[in-house]
Amino acid sequence: SRTYLVTGAASGIGLATTRRLRSHGHTVIGADLRDADISADLATAEGRTELAERAAELSGGRLDAVVACAGALALDPVTVRVNCFGAFATLENLRPLLAAGTRGRAVVVSSVAGVHATDPAIVEAVLLGDEAAAVAAARAAVDRGEGHLVYSSSKQAVSRWVRRTAVGAEWAGAGIPLNAIAPGTVLTPMIRPLLDDPALRAVVDTSVPMPLHGHAAADQVAPLVDWLTGPENTHVTGQIVYVDGGADAVLRGDAV
Ligand code: NAD
Repeated sequence: SRTYLVTGAASGIGLATTRRLRSHGHTVIGADLRDADISADLATAEGRTELAERAAELSGGRLDAVVACAGALALDPVTVRVNCFGAFATLENLRPLLAAGTRGRAVVVSSVAGVHATDPAIVEAVLLGDEAAAVAAARAAVDRGEGHLVYSSSKQAVSRWVRRTAVGAEWAGAGIPLNAIAPGTVLTPMIRPLLDDPALRAVVDTSVPMPLHGHAAADQVAPLVDWLTGPENTHVTGQIVYVDGGADAVLRGDAV
């Protein structure tokens, strides 16, 4: 059995992943704002440090896999803080624990929204690692009425960060696969308010067309995370694995 750390473990995809892993006999240290083994706000520097310190304590200094699932959808700069800098801090700060574990693997949850229109200023600031500039760019987008670009930009930045980071010395060089999954529309508390409003639901379904099986349940996404973070995954790294009912194939056609 393996020892996992999962952020966003109290709800949605993180909760479904935690339940699946525990049902297979693995140990999961859950982190979230509340209702988890570790309570930490990943929008803040203090919360990110708290996560790393508590994870080291609770794991005894060794983790076999990390799943960075915590995320926010708000039309607000906090979305960039959590989705990008919170996730990157999770992966980077816990990487030494992974290196001490057995067949370390990591997954971060991106989104098919990363292929939607973005604000390049947000994406570029994130990829430069400049949180203050990324937050300022997100605030500017909100102020000019383009708050919808904040989430897509945060997720495109996550996907691009994974492609760059996975092949570096600290990950591939240390034998640790690092991948993103990019779900389409998944029935979780995050998306529920949008789907409950008929007009917003139409926007969601137009922007995320899912010809195969429609909206997913969180427990239809968890098996992919399970495999990518399991010992059988020896050569898949730096990938954005779309689990989206075909949305990426519809939206991006020939892009491979
Ligand atoms: P969810 O709201 O059910 O779960 C997200 C969890 O993240 C919550 O438990 C929340 O408390 C936690 N979280 C939010 N802000 C946090 C913070 N500052 N610090 C610590 N934890 C925080 O939503 P979900 O759909 O399960 O989302 C999980 C991931 O999947 C997110 O990254 C989301 O962007 C991504 N995603 C979701 C969908 C979807 O349709 N639901 C689609 C694509 C990607």
